[in-house]
Amino acid sequence: MHELSVAHAVVSTVVEALPAGPSAPRVLEVHVRVGVLSGVVPDALSYAYDVAAEGTPLADAALHVERSPVVIHCAECDGDAELLGTTDFRCPACGTPSGDVRGGRELEVLRLVLDDAPALAGGMP
Ligand SMILES: [Zn+2]
Repeated sequence: MHELSVAHAVVSTVVEALPAGPSAPRVLEVHVRVGVLSGVVPDALSYAYDVAAEGTPLADAALHVERSPVVIHCAECDGDAELLGTTDFRCPACGTPSGDVRGGRELEVLRLVLDDAPALAGGMP
């Protein structure tokens, strides 16, 4: 199962980024961004994350998955454009087909929401 190895990678990335020891902050939420072309199914990743996080400092942290769209570069418009789907690789502005994919394959940890350390929570009120 692809998502399980992805989930393990997310968990180990986050755990390694956290300070160790008694002063380690408690992680409340882990936000990841998954491109629609990454092949990762968000629901499957959420399930796999629960399995991967068990017994780690992230056991109680909730995973939030954001989907990011396909972005292609259009040579005609000389710019990048977001696509609504994943099958029609044409510029939404001028209709020119493009295989120059600039986004949609990413899989990244966007941010963590920590208990007790609002300065690192990024974007939370
Ligand atoms: Zn175009």
